[in-house]
Amino acid sequence: MKCTRCRAKAEVHLRAHNAAFCRACFVLVFRRQVERAIAAEHMFTREERVLVAVSGGKDSLALWDVLADLGYDTTGLYVGLGIGTYSDRSHEKVVAFARARGLPLRVVDLDATGPGLAVPAVAAATRRAACAACGLMKRHYFDVAAFEGGFPVLATGHNLDDEAARLLGNVLAWRRDHLARQQPVLPPTHPRFVRKVKPLYLVSEYETAVYAFMRGIDYIVEECPNAAGATQLAYKAALDRLEAASPGTKLRFVKEFLRSGRQAFVAPEEQPPQACVRCGMPSYGPTCAFCRLLDEVERRRAAAASA
Ligand code: AMP
Ligand code: ZN
Repeated sequence: MKCTRCRAKAEVHLRAHNAAFCRACFVLVFRRQVERAIAAEHMFTREERVLVAVSGGKDSLALWDVLADLGYDTTGLYVGLGIGTYSDRSHEKVVAFARARGLPLRVVDLDATGPGLAVPAVAAATRRAACAACGLMKRHYFDVAAFEGGFPVLATGHNLDDEAARLLGNVLAWRRDHLARQQPVLPPTHPRFVRKVKPLYLVSEYETAVYAFMRGIDYIVEECPNAAGATQLAYKAALDRLEAASPGTKLRFVKEFLRSGRQAFVAPEEQPPQACVRCGMPSYGPTCAFCRLLDEVERRRAAAASA
């Protein structure tokens, strides 16, 4: 097979795009796709400082690589979740990546921040699924780091497969409020929130994996031992089957939702969040979900100690 752009020998075949590329053209096309998404959705400009949340996995490191190469002003943010050797190893990958490219990196270690509660301790104390506690805590520390660092925008490595799976889950349960908010750019609804963007939302997991490989990015291959929500994985598997039967399904699903589906779910007016009485971050009640989680940990620990 020949490269669609330059007719050299192709190394990768993208059925969803009905195209094949050699290494150099693939890298170029991938970057161009990301740049186009950033421009089309007005995610950020070259004058803005972008905080890139990096987990050490292929998506977020590929994102940081692309943004830095495109000349954006980026700083990495790694949140150490305290999930045993998985966290240690992902931390190492992120540090090595940043060091090799001379890019600034901020690290927030949950063991050593605020109440010093990492994910396993919170999950054990509250008997919640680790993923639920983890997602909530990550969001809180992303928000705090972006606000305190004075960054106008926070970028995450969510890709097309992530977005399609989330969309499928929201549709299957008809979560109208979630559907209204599912978009590649989330404008801030509170002075302490910053814009949140997903520049990889139109590139598939396969494409990011190929990009990371071609760019020689050393990322953590193993999945989190807490195995991201089983239902999310089931949705991804179902979408993979649909994609195999009809290439381009995921892209169409997400793009058409954003173009013509989402507007049906947008609520006319949403109450803006208030300030959490405990931590000052935006909240939809007197205390934010993060502080309520910490309260729950304390309560359960106190109850266990007195039992
Ligand atoms: P996940 O929720 O694990 O699928 O990750 C989605 C995105 O969140 C990743 O692409 C990263 O941008 C970001 N992310 C996940 N885990 C971390 C972490 N420990 N530190 C910083 N960013 C993260
Ligand atoms: Zn709070």
